[in-house]
Amino acid sequence: MRLLPLLLVCAPFAAHAEPLTIVTDIPPVQSLVQMVAGDRGTVTALLEPNADPHHFQLRPSQARQLSNADLLIWIGEDMTPWLARARDGVALDVPHMPFIEDEDHTGESEDDDHAGESEEEDHHGETEEEEDHHHEDPHFWLSTLEATEMVEHIEHKLSDLDPEGAELYRSNADAAILEIQSLTKAILSLLEDVRTVPFAVTHDGFQYFVRQFELTQVGSLSDIQDSAASAKTVSNLAEMAKSGEIVCVFGEVAESNKLAQVLVDEGAKLGKSLDPAGISLNRGPTLYSELILGMAQSFKDCLSD
Ligand SMILES: [Zn+2]
Repeated sequence: MRLLPLLLVCAPFAAHAEPLTIVTDIPPVQSLVQMVAGDRGTVTALLEPNADPHHFQLRPSQARQLSNADLLIWIGEDMTPWLARARDGVALDVPHMPFIEDEDHTGESEDDDHAGESEEEDHHGETEEEEDHHHEDPHFWLSTLEATEMVEHIEHKLSDLDPEGAELYRSNADAAILEIQSLTKAILSLLEDVRTVPFAVTHDGFQYFVRQFELTQVGSLSDIQDSAASAKTVSNLAEMAKSGEIVCVFGEVAESNKLAQVLVDEGAKLGKSLDPAGISLNRGPTLYSELILGMAQSFKDCLSD
């Protein structure tokens, strides 16, 4: 009769005797997933500290980590093409949840043959127009409203995969959403006085934040895919800096300020470098709030004096 109690103890955990092993692409996604998973999952980000999120190459040990994961949660191919390639190579059978689908991807690549492979409920749950935004700008975690939706999607996915943890995931997600709401209030008041002060960025990855908090970004020295702007655009922006129509220019951590310097030479102030993917921050559940707050503080500091 010793077997019976053992079975009773073990049964609820039979599906996942060990914590879920969840792999993510970038630190803010890792942070949001950790908020929801709590102690019930181990969550890592494949991107190494201070590496460029758009251009990265997995090491063999990271490829193994990816292929052994219970779940991959990531923004999608538009953000990290290197991860799409790695997944095609070693992890096609790992369940995954991209926040953006690649089905209407228009790039030149080989991707069309796996469009529609992701699970149907993985869609970001928005209207057609909003999906198009995502294809233009994959940096949508920079909107705290989008982050709230991401938390909801993460919660549903973890609960599907590990129903025994559903109650925990729900209460963790509720707490995360409250935290993101109070973060949003703090940012609104921090940026209240600088909304109309015009600035430029070196990498066009901030549109979601700019729109949500109604800031005045007037130009970018690169496009969304991180390719340099045309000479004409650069000379127009330099002209604007000269006439005071660009007060600040913001570069990014772990990147040279060479591009920004063109505008600084014409009189724009150089703001503290932004870190939209949190590559310089300590990883963990608090990273998301630190990332958003740090970015808002950079804007505030340069635009207000
Ligand atoms: Zn970017």
